[in-house]
Amino acid sequence: MSSKVRVRFAPSPTGPLHIGGVRTALYNYLFAKKHGGDFVLRIEDTDQNRYVEGAEDYIIESLNWCGIPYDEGPGKEKGYGPYRQSERKDKYREYAEKLIESGDAYYAFDTADELDAHRKDHEEKGKTFIYNWHNRQKLKNSLSLSEEEVQQKIDAEEAYVIRFKSPQDETLHLKDVIRGEMEIDTNILDDKVLFKSDGMPTYHLANIVDDHLMEITHVIRGEEWLPSLALHYMLYRAFGWNAPEFAHLPLILKPQGKGKLSKRDGEKMGFPVFPLEWKDPKSGEISAGYKEEGYFPEAVVNMLAFLGWNPGTEQEFFELEELTKAFELERVHKGGAKFDPEKTKWFQQHYIQLADNDFLAGEFEKYLVKKDITADKKYISDVVALIKERVVFVEDFWEQGYFFFIAPTSFDPKDSKKAWKEDTSELMKELKEFLKSVEDFKAEPLQEAVKEWIKSKEIGFGKVMMPLRIALVGALQGPDLYKIAEFIGKEESIDRIQNAIETLK
Ligand code: GLU
Repeated sequence: MSSKVRVRFAPSPTGPLHIGGVRTALYNYLFAKKHGGDFVLRIEDTDQNRYVEGAEDYIIESLNWCGIPYDEGPGKEKGYGPYRQSERKDKYREYAEKLIESGDAYYAFDTADELDAHRKDHEEKGKTFIYNWHNRQKLKNSLSLSEEEVQQKIDAEEAYVIRFKSPQDETLHLKDVIRGEMEIDTNILDDKVLFKSDGMPTYHLANIVDDHLMEITHVIRGEEWLPSLALHYMLYRAFGWNAPEFAHLPLILKPQGKGKLSKRDGEKMGFPVFPLEWKDPKSGEISAGYKEEGYFPEAVVNMLAFLGWNPGTEQEFFELEELTKAFELERVHKGGAKFDPEKTKWFQQHYIQLADNDFLAGEFEKYLVKKDITADKKYISDVVALIKERVVFVEDFWEQGYFFFIAPTSFDPKDSKKAWKEDTSELMKELKEFLKSVEDFKAEPLQEAVKEWIKSKEIGFGKVMMPLRIALVGALQGPDLYKIAEFIGKEESIDRIQNAIETLK
């Protein structure tokens, strides 16, 4: 086996990649990068019935968006391809037959109806039907039938599968990097199908053969594959191959803690469970994605990194670079990881604060363009800098700062009632006249001037500042009022005061 670390992410293209799959990919990526290894993408598409158009592209786009592209895989041939199992079809039969020769597998001719009948029969007696050592001699296979009978059936093109012959009375000692040692009694295992009657391998056979041929050193995958570990271990042994190391990642649990996080949970509670938006090609149903909901990949990656792992320190913010240094498989938890949608927002808030203002201005500009608003790039960037600390998503810049771009189209009734009294219109008229005389409209000198003016009138500040805010913003909200006036300028400020007087008198 090559000494270089080689890991693989091996999704089946059966739909959009769930956030749990993205975490598996991320942990593989981090482990590979930490050890200077290769991160391989292998598409496990042997189950033609479950193939979904567009799913492979979606997987690749998701990895790219997260900033964890694969080094090797479809379109990035590095000598171990092809990387889609459907394009490797011809390789698997030969390996299944090797196991028949060595006595580790056998042909089984039982039809689906016959197996169903056995299952039913067992159920009625309150038992479970398992195809293995205790009954295989009574079933229709190359262990129970004579050589001639078997040959006859094969010649007559009777449908068959190839099953693995699980050993009897043995205790297997399995090892998992996260879970430690496990013992399995082989008598409880069933003789799993390795090769199907349609000429395709099952997941188990294809997965082991490919991991071997692709010289994979570490298999990092979801906990749902832990029950397959014994079979995989026995397959490596039967082939006489060194097994890779295994690490099974903990389940991602519902926010309430019980049960696996599902698409439904996200829909019910209003958070995405997919990295990118997905449109089902058949039903047309659209599922929300983190990207389209306005999350930055840094936030999603940081959240996922902590979903089942922590560095053992107080530090919670990790960008990808840092993660590749800090990540250790041994520190991945055994227990399920509870999903916390609020935590993702918290990471998002952090990363938007760190983001470059010009970058944010560019993103916000796209939003403004959709509203048919054009503004100078520098102006947008200055607005962004001023109100950044109030936002979590780029979209929030609008709610927190629309008044930098348009005059208020309405006045909040509650706030206006509070701010606009009987004598306010008269006062605002005077203020308007005064502002016309102010030459330097920069926030600081403007503040000085207005303060002096209020003092000279011997009235409370609120009497002027509250209605002025209503006039400029439309509600009692927003950042420093003098800054707003400076940004929108003298003429616009005066126009807005005039408009408020007319509307609220
Ligand atoms: N194709 C399997 C999946 O969809 C891969 C499991 C594994 O990594 O071995 O998750």
